[in-house]
Amino acid sequence: MGYRITLIPGDGIGPEITDVVKECIEATGVEIEWDIQEAGECAIEKYGTPIPEKTLKSIEENKVCLKAPLTTPVGSGFRSVNVYIRQHFNLYVCLRPFKFYEGVRSRYSNIDIIVIRENMEDLYAGIEFQQGNKETEELIDFIEKKIGKRINRDSGISIKPISITNSERIVRFAFEYARKNRRKKVTAIHKANIMKFTDGLFLDISRRVAHEYSDIEFEDKIVDNMAMQLVQKPELYDVLVCPNLYGDILSDLCAGLIGGLGLSPGANIGEDIAVFEATHGSAPKYKGLNRVNPSALLLAGIMMLDYIGESKRATKLEEALADVIKEGLYLTYDFRDPGDTNYVGTREMGRAIVEKVREKI
Ligand code: NAD
Repeated sequence: MGYRITLIPGDGIGPEITDVVKECIEATGVEIEWDIQEAGECAIEKYGTPIPEKTLKSIEENKVCLKAPLTTPVGSGFRSVNVYIRQHFNLYVCLRPFKFYEGVRSRYSNIDIIVIRENMEDLYAGIEFQQGNKETEELIDFIEKKIGKRINRDSGISIKPISITNSERIVRFAFEYARKNRRKKVTAIHKANIMKFTDGLFLDISRRVAHEYSDIEFEDKIVDNMAMQLVQKPELYDVLVCPNLYGDILSDLCAGLIGGLGLSPGANIGEDIAVFEATHGSAPKYKGLNRVNPSALLLAGIMMLDYIGESKRATKLEEALADVIKEGLYLTYDFRDPGDTNYVGTREMGRAIVEKVREKI
């Protein structure tokens, strides 16, 4: 059976890593009809928007999308096309695996952490009051009158909503993920000691949901302590479930543990739609130079294969990538020490992965 999947090659280095990833996925033998769509800076001239209606329609129809990085246009109405896609399709889960592959330059080894981040609310809900606006002053007056707290009148204000509904579904997703993937422990991240009504709520819900999964260990950690623990003893952690802001920050911390964003894929998942992406940006300075590492988008493609039920071939593809990294012969510049010129281009690394896949399938 063939799959129809939306493919967004995106901006900057996007098209060249997309070509390589397509070839690697096709080498697994999974039959995919790619529905190629535009988004990002490259769409603006043609459609007048970085996220054309036909691209949204394609994602809605195909339900699965693989997306290369998009340049966020400076000065347009969009804060970020990526955030827009998440909000538009209610993709409430951000799933990011961080795994150490032998051969990668890193201070750590033995890392295999999953960060599951709530994608819709918290301080990222976009509910902001600009300093000096009439509405902001009214809000300050309201707060002073209602709860007697003084706020400097020259403040800007961002609102942090955390709901039972979103907390419950993200924590449940984390436990279901842990169960399905034979993970042992879920750690809920919060700052409930300070933010009792938002992070406190997230923690209460996490504890309540944890009771339903007695086969999986549960613990909670205050976010600042968690940041230190991840640096000191990352091998103790398995699945982390976080509200939006802490998830964003800890994700990049974890990316740093495994060798950087070049190896960090992500999935944004809703009830029936999922968008898979590399988490690095479009690196415009390397556009068209056949220089950058295709691994993050390839790992996103591997997550996508797993999501559509092609787990065996996903594993083979991941093994092929792991072998190429371990052998160390065909790797892009970012795998090397600064000054070491013994590297290959994006296409050459891709070719080595394709050959490995063919040996395994
Ligand atoms: P970036 O991730 O594009 O690049 C920062 C640096 O990281 C690059 O100069 C390069 O040295 C390195 N790098 C990134 N990807 C690499 C790869 N695959 N292989 C090797 N090295 C790599 O971040 P930026 O320069 O801050 O952002 C550029 C554009 O990308 C901006 O418009 C930004 O908004 C956008 N962006 C998009 C996404 C996304 O689409 N998911 C994510 C982040 C940034």
